[in-house]
Amino acid sequence: MSEVQFMADLESVILRGAWPGMVGMVALDGCKKCSSILDCRRAVEVSLSAHVQGGRDVRASDMFCDECFDKHILPLVESGEIRASVSRNLGHPLWAPPPDPDTLPLPGILSEEQPKGSVRVTVEVTDGREVMGPEEEDSEPVPYPKEYVTWGGEEFPVPSMGELERWVFDGDCEALDGCIVEGDGHCCHGAPSWLIQLGMI
Ligand SMILES: [Zn+2]
Ligand SMILES: [Zn+2]
Repeated sequence: MSEVQFMADLESVILRGAWPGMVGMVALDGCKKCSSILDCRRAVEVSLSAHVQGGRDVRASDMFCDECFDKHILPLVESGEIRASVSRNLGHPLWAPPPDPDTLPLPGILSEEQPKGSVRVTVEVTDGREVMGPEEEDSEPVPYPKEYVTWGGEEFPVPSMGELERWVFDGDCEALDGCIVEGDGHCCHGAPSWLIQLGMI
């Protein structure tokens, strides 16, 4: 594992579903640096975890607005300064595993074992701009062979990606005919939920 990970690279639908709630919990506290109110497309979470060999683990995370992150935090992440400053604060020498365990450690120089008293600091960056993607994507229709689904002799338009994501994480879902049902259910008129219709359940 790299010492710095950009979590949004995962492009995971799970992260995308959970992210607005994670930001919502701290939105009013605002950006750690400028205190501006955060929304899920303009928030970046930086999580630090420090493991002191033979000692304690420390974890901390902060949310920043995109502007403060780009201007003040990203340069510290990229230069390694953010990890170095954690090691200074904890008073332990910084350690990282050798980048290529097949050719390293060089005997007597680098060891894959974290030495006692050293600290390994890893950084995770979750960038709301990447996690959520552009706003337009929310209104894109779900990829489906047709724009309409025919049920009971009527045509119903296929939902948008934004709707689908809400249904996946709310638990409640629309049936084809617009009734609210459980994601894996049918309504009292017999229409299946969109999650069933689209083969997601
Ligand atoms: Zn800010
Ligand atoms: Zn119905």
